Amino acid sequence: MQFKDVVGHDDLKRKMLRSISDNRVSHAQLFYGPEGTHKLGLVLAYAQYLNCENPSETDSCGICPTCIKYNNFAHPDLHFIFPTVNVSSSDKSTSENYTEKWISYLKSNHAHVSLSSWVTYAWEENKRASITVRDASRMIEKINLKTYEGKLKVFVVWMVEKWFHAAAPKLLKTIEEPPANSLILMITEDYENVLNTIRSRSQLIKIFKYPNDIIRNTLVDKYEVSAAKAANIARYVNGNFYKALEESKEISDFDNTSNYIDMMRSAFQVMQKGGGIDNLDKWVIKISKKSRDEQINFLKYSIELTRQNFIKGVDESMVSASEEEMGFMKNFSPFINSKNIDFIFNELNKSILHIERNGYSLVIFMDMVLRIGSVLKR
Ligand SMILES: [Zn+2]
Repeated sequence: MQFKDVVGHDDLKRKMLRSISDNRVSHAQLFYGPEGTHKLGLVLAYAQYLNCENPSETDSCGICPTCIKYNNFAHPDLHFIFPTVNVSSSDKSTSENYTEKWISYLKSNHAHVSLSSWVTYAWEENKRASITVRDASRMIEKINLKTYEGKLKVFVVWMVEKWFHAAAPKLLKTIEEPPANSLILMITEDYENVLNTIRSRSQLIKIFKYPNDIIRNTLVDKYEVSAAKAANIARYVNGNFYKALEESKEISDFDNTSNYIDMMRSAFQVMQKGGGIDNLDKWVIKISKKSRDEQINFLKYSIELTRQNFIKGVDESMVSASEEEMGFMKNFSPFINSKNIDFIFNELNKSILHIERNGYSLVIFMDMVLRIGSVLKR
């Protein structure tokens, strides 16, 4: 993984490069930030840069033998430690036993990872995973061997907060004084729950969630997502790029904006004007044939666009909407106000819950639209 493959974080990349050129590479570092910030990609790009045989000022070369092995996540001096599921009481495995699976997981998503997706990938259901004390023992054995071919022996510990407390005494000396030419790069999404032994002895590098525009632009430029779809996704994933990628895979050609307009129009027609029940029936049948993911995605989108309608009534300069959305909002936004916004949010959220629990979507959507329609008043 090269720095250029890591989404955003330009300031941090510069800072990391500067610390290398200033010879200030700390041997135990803890990268801390929320899910979906490409922390693992960043750590791997950093380790690859440090080991590259021909790095430029800004990135590893990508073509030397070390880079090629790093790009495949497989270099004899690159070691991964990550949470695993204990399948039985006699299970004595460590992350090492799952390395092959782990590497194929990383290849399938270019190191855009989440704990639940890793566990589901490797064990086929979402079970509790942790990093064992045995992983600490193995790391200490390996760190004291000499390097095979790289400049540095690198240990990447992903989700270090999952390391059992019993591992702390074993880790103490190694993290405090790692052998020369070794580097321990740890990643966490839950700083408070990282062993104190680790926290107090590592350099902390904080990673911030992505701004919306980075997510939007990356989806468009690198993942061929349409501009409108990318803008919708960026708005509700709250800076989580992992989630943004998942959403962009799941959404088909179902157009959220036109469906929101159809839904709100028929809700208003039926409940405030009387009539138009045929259109409502047609719309509900259409949405109920969509996949559960598309339905949930649509409901999340509806929450966000309803919020934008409300904001428009408060402070128009704060609105973030596409041209098509704005066109509809011009007339519709007065109908979303402080008297009904909570009620509508509640209805939309309730439907998400019911659909997640495999409820009958035809009934859920019909009921929801009628209830929303009943409160659409100026
Ligand atoms: Zn290289």
